[in-house]
This record gives sequence, C-alpha cells and structure tokens, in this order.
Amino acid sequence: MIAQAANPEVPLIGSPFDLRVSLGEKVSELDTRAALESGDWGFMHSFTTGSAVDGPGVRVVAWTSGCMWRCRYCHNPDTWTLRNGFPVSISRAAEELRKYSHGLKIMKGGFTLSGGDPLMQHRFAVKLLAAAKTMGIHTTIETNGYYADKVSDAELEHIDLVMLGMKTWDAARHKHLVGLENGPTIAFARRLAERKRPMWIRFVLVPGLTDDLDDLAKTAEFAAGLGNVERVEVLPFHQLGRFKWEKLGLKYSLKDVEPPDPVLSERVRNQFRSHGLTVY
Ligand code: SF4
Repeated sequence: MIAQAANPEVPLIGSPFDLRVSLGEKVSELDTRAALESGDWGFMHSFTTGSAVDGPGVRVVAWTSGCMWRCRYCHNPDTWTLRNGFPVSISRAAEELRKYSHGLKIMKGGFTLSGGDPLMQHRFAVKLLAAAKTMGIHTTIETNGYYADKVSDAELEHIDLVMLGMKTWDAARHKHLVGLENGPTIAFARRLAERKRPMWIRFVLVPGLTDDLDDLAKTAEFAAGLGNVERVEVLPFHQLGRFKWEKLGLKYSLKDVEPPDPVLSERVRNQFRSHGLTVY
C-alpha cells in the first residue's frame, strides 16, 4: 500500500536544489499506476515557501517528480523519475497548503505547482490545484505542456496562470535539446490562447543552443500572435544542477557552457520585446 510507503512524519518542506533519489521506491508498480489513475496520491520532489520567482507575488511551490523530457540543461534531473519523489496523499498536500492560505491571500501571492512536469501526474495535479482554488488561493502551474491534452477544458479553469516552458522553435533542434518533439507544447499554447487563459512563457537561454536569431524570431512571433502571453521570462542558463547529473551518473553535455553574458541576454530579451511582448 502507498500509505505504508509514505511516512507522515517526514516534513514536506524541502529545497528543489537538493538531490533526491528513490524516496518512493517502496511503492509498487501497481500502486504507482493506481495513484496516477486516481490522483489521490502523488510523488513530490520538494515543497518550498516564500518563493518570489515562481509566479505572481509570494508563492508556495510544490515540485512534483516525473518528467518525460530530458532537457540538456535541466538543473533537476533527479525529478525525471517518478519514484525519486516521495509519496504524498492529496489530503496531506492540501492540508499543508492550507497552513499558508491566509498569508498567501494577504500577500497577493499563491500556489505554484512545478516539477519535473506536474502534468505527468495530471490527476494529482488537477486535484491539488482545485483544492487550492477552493481555499481562494491563486494557482499557477509550470509545465512543458507535453501531457496537457489529458487536462480537460473544465479542469483548466482551476489554473489561474500557466507558465509554459518553450525551449526552441525548430522541431529538429527541439528534439536534439530535449529528446521529444515540441508539437504538444505549441498545441497547448494555442489552446490556452483560444480559451483566453493567462500565460507566461519561460525560456532558458543557453549560449550556442537556444540563442539562434532566426529560431528566436519564430518563437517571439508565435508568442506575440497568441494574445494571451502576459510576459516572457528569459532565464539564463546556469550550472547549479551539474552536480546532480554527476551524482546520478548521467552524461552531461553542457559542462563547458558558460552562462550567457549580459549582452547576449539583452539581445534575446530585445528580440521578444520587438514583437511587443513584456519581457523579464
Ligand atoms: S521539462 Fe523541466 S524538468 Fe523536464 S527535463 Fe526539461 S527542464 Fe528538466
């Protein structure tokens, strides 16, 4: 039983920058499948409070485990595997969130569900976001959109803001960068636009990998044409997650890549701005 694998004494709070492995390894395949189908349990990597960079205002952030993508610059590769996270019931996760609900409302902040990719556990994600909404908390999800078609239009209403990770425009370059195609991400962006759902785009700037002028122009043109993109966040690549690749025995192809310099960062931000987008 998952209930036996979960230890209610273990505090939920924990930094996403810490390496976590095999915390849910005692959960059987059968129970994992049941959790994915019901959403009554989920696998969580970490849980933080007081974030000012994961959505509007001050946020409580839950980081789920599980992601189908393999971004070369991922700083949390330990979130790729579902059972690296620890099992937590939806009621416990909601109960934890409730502790902060009053403060979050006063500070005009909210709850952000990130990962990994939270929609890999879409039923758990939807239940947790719905619980937050019933507490009157602003909800944000950070996703690559790969599994977004599993979320119904009605369920989308539980999400006040989607922070969509867009990596690169060119399909072949995207596959080289993350291992899978970007069609589902683009389709989700269009769907959100059609439904007039607020969206931020998160773009990681990696020198030599995601800074191509023509590719960026296409991404910016697409984003501007949607009409629902409230801001674009250009996030400079960094090496903070490198130790995780090494500890996990994964081949890290970016060990010689430096973070972008201010000139390149500004050039890329200006490319988005030139299409009328608000850029940070
Ligand atoms: S989508 Fe996010 S969690 Fe998944 S591999 Fe890419 S950076 Fe890592």
